[in-house]
Amino acid sequence: MSYEKIPYKTFLAESETPETWFNLKAFMRDGHEPFLNPATGKPSTEEELETVFCKECVKQELNCKDAEIEIPGGIKSFYRTFRPSPLVRAYFLEKVLDTPAQIYYKFEGSNTSGSHKLNSAVAQAYYAKQQGLTSITTETGAGQWGTALSMAAAFYGLELDVFMVKASARQKPYRKEVIRTFGARVAESPSDTTEAGRKILREYPETGGSLGCAISEAVEKAIKTPKCKYVLGSVLDHVLLHQSVIGVESKTALDKYGVYPDIIIGCAGGGSNLGGLIAPYMAERLQGKNKTEFIAVEPASCPSLTRGKYAYDYCDSAKITPLAKMYTLGCGFTPSPDHAGGLRYHGMSPIISKLYDGGYIRAVAAEQTKVFGAAVKFAKCEGILPAPESSHAIYAAIEEALKCRLTGEKKVILFGLTGTGYFDLAAYKQYNDGTLTDYIPSEKDLEKSLNSIPAQKKTQ
Ligand SMILES: *Cc1c(COP(=O)(O)O)cnc(C)c1O
Repeated sequence: MSYEKIPYKTFLAESETPETWFNLKAFMRDGHEPFLNPATGKPSTEEELETVFCKECVKQELNCKDAEIEIPGGIKSFYRTFRPSPLVRAYFLEKVLDTPAQIYYKFEGSNTSGSHKLNSAVAQAYYAKQQGLTSITTETGAGQWGTALSMAAAFYGLELDVFMVKASARQKPYRKEVIRTFGARVAESPSDTTEAGRKILREYPETGGSLGCAISEAVEKAIKTPKCKYVLGSVLDHVLLHQSVIGVESKTALDKYGVYPDIIIGCAGGGSNLGGLIAPYMAERLQGKNKTEFIAVEPASCPSLTRGKYAYDYCDSAKITPLAKMYTLGCGFTPSPDHAGGLRYHGMSPIISKLYDGGYIRAVAAEQTKVFGAAVKFAKCEGILPAPESSHAIYAAIEEALKCRLTGEKKVILFGLTGTGYFDLAAYKQYNDGTLTDYIPSEKDLEKSLNSIPAQKKTQ
């Protein structure tokens, strides 16, 4: 089929949407290093993980065997309200860039939460309800995850406590109101409602908080509340599993036209949208069936892949979670307050970390002024106001398309457009006013947080 025949937007029919999630781990030899219980230094057991997380999510977390995992009917019916998401051929961007490359993006921002996060929020709330729980807790940084989970909690009838990073809550007061409107309680983190929060407030009374700290508070609250578990919106394997609907839908749509991506690009905070988008294509790569290039784009101000260490570290700053082997800046990392673009987590998904370490993924760190420049260029021709997080992927896609202009190569580029930026207008204002600045941590800045990575035991 000639490329001109490919429609601007492709929506799959309901009958073409995935019946199963795609478990990339089933294709990774030996999976990745297990979570460790920091007290014993031994791999965390299913029972230990179940003290914090829902049973079914733990099962999925530890499943390295099944390539496909059925999406329950109760989840599919909610998916129907906002999926399938469109796959768009960026004809207008291609024209502006004057590139022979073909650019596609999978747009996950057309639901009310405004991002891909809803894909996992639905699944995790559903499993919590199935297990007979009455409430769940979580953290949120930029607020998309808290919003998505508040929608899912409302749909399935669960109470929800959201610990929102204080700096973000102040930057985005209306995000907080959306979450409250869907019926969840929001506490600014660090809060005085948990031991972890009070401890950090005593040490750093002025702190704007961090995701690591908010996670500590949410986990503590879940452990201390009956019939309550903690849910996490990124990083973990089961979250990447739920996000595989992005990749599976993309592949189904592109296969219809006989199109196969040469380059797949995703922004990387904790790694969930990237892991979901690349899943079916990375599986083929691991089987030697393609030469597709995979690119993770992270902020230069929070560069866990490009400047972090591949080591066992805590997932939170109060060190109450299990240890995960991942690329990390250290669980004591606090992002610069000048950083506007999300993607602030100190660590990276163990799956993405393992693939990056194995040379299957390339990582790019982008400064935020360049990222916003790419966002504006994209918005003007494609008509979508992108989230700053998503704009990291746009930035790299444009760079790759411009390389093709030089070489004349007609590469197929697919990137994940994870969300919209309507709650990021304070950051857009700074960009428009010319006051947005770039912060690249010095070696010395990073050294301090890298030193918060616990000593690695010999057995690891
Ligand atoms: C949370 C978020 C991200 C980053 O999270 P990942 O787990 O790395 O996917 C990217 N884009 C948007 C819009 C988000 O809300």
